[in-house]
Amino acid sequence: MSYEAIIGLEVHAELATQSKMFCGCPVVDPEQAAPNTAVCPVCAGMPGTLPVVNAAAVGYGVRVALALGCEVNLRSLFARKNYFYPDLPKGYQISQYEQPLARNGRLVIQTAAGEKVIRIRRVHLEEDTGKLTHFGEDRTLVDLNRAGVPLLEIVTEPDFRAPEEVRRYAQALRAILRYLGVNSGDLQKGALRIEPNISLRPAGSQTFGTKVEIKNLNSFHALERAVAYEIERQTKLLEAGETVQQVTMGWDETRQMTVLQRVKEGEDDYRYFPEPDLPPLVLEPAWVERLRASLPELPERRARRFVEQYGLTEYAASVLVEEKAVAEYFEEAVRSLSAGAVAPRALANWISGDLFGLMNQAGVSAEHIPVPAAELAALVSLVESGQINPRGGREVLAEMFQSGRGAAEIVRQRGLEQVSDADFIARLVSETLAEYPGEVASFRAGKAAVLNWLFGQVMRKSQGRANPQIVRQELEKQLGGR
Ligand code: ADP
Ligand code: MG
Ligand code: ZN
Repeated sequence: MSYEAIIGLEVHAELATQSKMFCGCPVVDPEQAAPNTAVCPVCAGMPGTLPVVNAAAVGYGVRVALALGCEVNLRSLFARKNYFYPDLPKGYQISQYEQPLARNGRLVIQTAAGEKVIRIRRVHLEEDTGKLTHFGEDRTLVDLNRAGVPLLEIVTEPDFRAPEEVRRYAQALRAILRYLGVNSGDLQKGALRIEPNISLRPAGSQTFGTKVEIKNLNSFHALERAVAYEIERQTKLLEAGETVQQVTMGWDETRQMTVLQRVKEGEDDYRYFPEPDLPPLVLEPAWVERLRASLPELPERRARRFVEQYGLTEYAASVLVEEKAVAEYFEEAVRSLSAGAVAPRALANWISGDLFGLMNQAGVSAEHIPVPAAELAALVSLVESGQINPRGGREVLAEMFQSGRGAAEIVRQRGLEQVSDADFIARLVSETLAEYPGEVASFRAGKAAVLNWLFGQVMRKSQGRANPQIVRQELEKQLGGR
């Protein structure tokens, strides 16, 4: 029997506000601040304290909801989710349950089979828990700096059918959050936590099977791998006539497998009830509309504009818009090109090819590209106008990346200017042909492939500087003419 995978995603995004969700404590970088230095009686869960809602966090949440095309509830409710755990000093987490901040959104993803709409079920506000660090079997330290940090939970309908779709959605969502400036997008530090729910059903069936939730996924690669692994694991279980248990699993990066974490709590176990210390969250319609009007151009729309305005392919556009900083870098470079001299398409290729390669190698993020956009444009202009050849261009870019120096200066210093002088090239070609009479003879005898080899010899003789098009023309001329 063949099975179909059904997958839904829960994403927790820490909101990058100045202060926490229900108190005035600062939101701090967990790697910078000493443990338990950003804590007050409210977020430490002391009796007798009262929460106050952080308006900035609500605004961030509404912006995300609007960007995802949700219906924003002008009246939503906070609720207590009760459970007992050392990272939760109050003994409950303030969340939203029956009346979330927003519902019914959508996010369009690009898949191998074309566009696909993923429905967003709900977007709600809540608070983060503290952080536990375990030492061996019997010692655990508690850091409450994270307790009470605003969290936005974004839950999809079970609309995914394949691991690749899940990854695409997670990447697209991260891009939106970063465009809005509400989340760092740092999966490794846990600022963005992605939890897929996976079940299988016989192909053609309309009912859902039992789902398994996976936690601890700190990269997109791990997300895709874990979903694929879990589909495989459940397939084997079902094929062996066994049943899938509703559990929460963790992803073990070293062993590349999911491992059991805990048997899933049901909703009853959390004893949700309306938060008595907070009134309903009521939003002014005019305020929501102002937030809607102030939304920036989001990745999907920007990609469409890049296709129309700059003649990029959809793929090239989608690569450039993924990071806001890259998209802005590209546009800055385009602006500094002299009009019509170079197609923006060529610039896009240099960015997503060589520049990304250098950035990956050096571990440099899009915000810290060491080559000024105008200098990249200058380099691409030199290549496109034939003043240096593409191979030389790549070398120059690598040096620009390392040293921060300008394109023209490096080209001059390295003597890389491309030579297009016809007499000079004609001489190189005739010298080369004289050196390899055997190869010339076999070309004349019909071995056409030798032409490329001879071309390579001429280019080498010129140390890569000869204009390749002129070399090719000259070669054909001299070989044909003899
Ligand atoms: P829970 O209360 O266990 O968190 P929810 O009903 O809130 O479950 O759903 C959580 C996520 O799991 C949602 O993204 C939803 O789309 C997805 N989901 C629900 N049922 C299934 C299923 N049978 N298989 C896969 N995903 C599912
Ligand atoms: Mg859940
Ligand atoms: Zn506090």
